[in-house]
Amino acid sequence: MIRFDSIVEKVKQNHPNADEEMLRRAYLFSAQQHRGQIRKSGEPYLIHPLEVANIIAELKLDPICVVTGLLHDIVEDTNTPLAEIERLFGLDVAHLVDGLTKISKLKQASAEERQALSIRKMLLAMVDDVRVILVKLADRLHNMRTLEHLMSEKRKRIAQETLDVYAPIAHRLGMSKVRGELEDLAFKYIEPEEYYKLKESVESRRERLEAYLGEIKKRLTEMFETNGIKVVHVEGRLKRLYSIYQKLKRQHIAIDQVYDLVAVRVITDSIKDCYAALGVIHTAWKPIPSRFKDWIAIPRENFYQSLHTSVVGDNGHPFEVQIRTEEMHLIAEQGIAAHWKYKEGRRGTHTAEDEAFVWLKRLVDWQQEVKESDSREFMDTLKLDLYPQEVYCFTPKGKVIELPRGATPIDFAFAIHTQVGMACTGAKANGRIVPLRYNLRNGDVIEVMTSPNAHPSRDWMNFVKTARARNKIRHYLAESERATAIELGKKIFEKEAEKFKLSLKKLLASGEFEQIAPEYGVARADDLLASIGYGKTLPRNVIAKLLPPDRVKELEEAKGPTFKQVVKKAFGLQDRIVVKGTDDIMVYRARCCNPIRGEQILGYITRGKGVAVHSTRCSNAPSLMVNPERLIEVEWQKADEGHPSAYPVTIRLVTEDRPGMVADVTQAIAGIGTNIRDIRASLDNDGRGQLIVTSEIFDLKHLERVTAALKSVKGVIDLERLGSDAI
Ligand code: MN
Repeated sequence: MIRFDSIVEKVKQNHPNADEEMLRRAYLFSAQQHRGQIRKSGEPYLIHPLEVANIIAELKLDPICVVTGLLHDIVEDTNTPLAEIERLFGLDVAHLVDGLTKISKLKQASAEERQALSIRKMLLAMVDDVRVILVKLADRLHNMRTLEHLMSEKRKRIAQETLDVYAPIAHRLGMSKVRGELEDLAFKYIEPEEYYKLKESVESRRERLEAYLGEIKKRLTEMFETNGIKVVHVEGRLKRLYSIYQKLKRQHIAIDQVYDLVAVRVITDSIKDCYAALGVIHTAWKPIPSRFKDWIAIPRENFYQSLHTSVVGDNGHPFEVQIRTEEMHLIAEQGIAAHWKYKEGRRGTHTAEDEAFVWLKRLVDWQQEVKESDSREFMDTLKLDLYPQEVYCFTPKGKVIELPRGATPIDFAFAIHTQVGMACTGAKANGRIVPLRYNLRNGDVIEVMTSPNAHPSRDWMNFVKTARARNKIRHYLAESERATAIELGKKIFEKEAEKFKLSLKKLLASGEFEQIAPEYGVARADDLLASIGYGKTLPRNVIAKLLPPDRVKELEEAKGPTFKQVVKKAFGLQDRIVVKGTDDIMVYRARCCNPIRGEQILGYITRGKGVAVHSTRCSNAPSLMVNPERLIEVEWQKADEGHPSAYPVTIRLVTEDRPGMVADVTQAIAGIGTNIRDIRASLDNDGRGQLIVTSEIFDLKHLERVTAALKSVKGVIDLERLGSDAI
């Protein structure tokens, strides 16, 4: 069993100021809490947190991470409340332990279905401190190292998850050493036959290959010396089994055809010497043209930097060479974990170590807004960088549902099934009832409540986010409006037809009515009735086609209703329309200007969609005035007559590009008790910032308060309200 003291020694080497007493307390607490628990291997459970802490110390992460490693399974496996961890070890440790506990729940929840990519993204999305992931990787590494003690079924599942979820995360974070070990271990348990076969064939060549490596190293060292190239280290290695295996599979070749089972790594003193070393190597051996890669000039997206080349050796055997500086090497092996190594010694001293932060900064778009030392902010930015648009939620059974950011329980319901969306009456997030317009958060478990008699409301259109939900709701609304329109069309037509002694019933029964439908561009009687109901077709016009020729004159003499009268009748509209909340069936707020309560408005009778309510400031208003016969008086329902409804209003801000801009704007809006539904930031060509903010506004006065608050934010140059079509 690993000695606790040796962990402390490792921590102290890299973090001389580490709180040794806290480490010791964490160790004792862990021992006490896990007392009596046994691992599958038969050993005391304590071995696991100790080994995890040791891996973390070897990764040179900070003492907080090591303490977290010692405590990471306590909340989940014992009945210790998180508050106890916080009381004993502080907020930071408690926060990390909490993150790890959440991840372990995630694993259970998604066991029913393998959705590797979603789980991976979700895991990254729900963690707000990258150290949680680093500790998790250490945890997984130790579990993989001791996987043989589990039953074969479980072994395979965990190994597969490691390969699908954790190895790619390690890769993304640039931790190639951890990734390599995770992959080789997973390979062993997933494809044991292939693994041992390959291992054996590599072993049988090992002696020969190692001798070969030895020769190459000797030659290289001599050449570098002759040419005055400063090289810190030359190392030769056999390639990892999993990477050989992938190559065999990908290229459908046998192991004898894999041309570089061996690889050489040259660590130099400077970038200049990297290229110098490359020159010497290419002079001595013939390079394979397509295999040269300059990852120094153009780093990989995980900030890996190195020169790669493959050359044909003296005996005709090719081998791969990687050339990089010490610093690049550190980042190549440890990736983001390398960041913590420098964290403490760094203050005040501007050494080459600062360069280690360059890659970190580059990972981050809004670099000025991120303090390098703040790993939480870093994680936020990383997430924005990786998955800005998505949010991941669970069904109660643990299925992961991926939705766009800003999605609501309605979107969730439609994502599960159309019928669930249609019948949705409410929702619970993590067991608590939330409004239907609630913005889903990563990791929410959403339970949709339904009722067989429920149906979508027009109001939903104002806040659903997904095209799927939007289309389904629109379709439903159109259908139900159509049903209403058919009924109204019938009534209007009958009333008008009575005057000419025509009976709709008979006309329908004889097929006469349907026969003339094509003249109106529709196929069926119902369509024509709907058209009358919507006010698209005047009943008199239809009657004229149905009357015997000798009676048409009668019709001309009788005075018919105007379009406006027909539509008003069809929609049951009064002379003056009261615009209620947001669920009027035949009255809707025009998308071009998106008017809100308190604004001057006008109603415009459309063909077929009811009454559009526009703001008088709408850019379309003048062209509406051209048809006065279609205008109808509208007014807002008094606020106390119903629930005040909030409307989404979108404002575009032009701002200076300065650090903290987004935070300040957010605060200004939230500061006056206003919900923000969406916020997007970008830079325009002139280097100014553009922020598009959608918030929930009750009325004009409220909007004025919000704009005043925004104008008072330092660096806001200009702002403008947008119609929702503009977004
Ligand atoms: Mn564990």
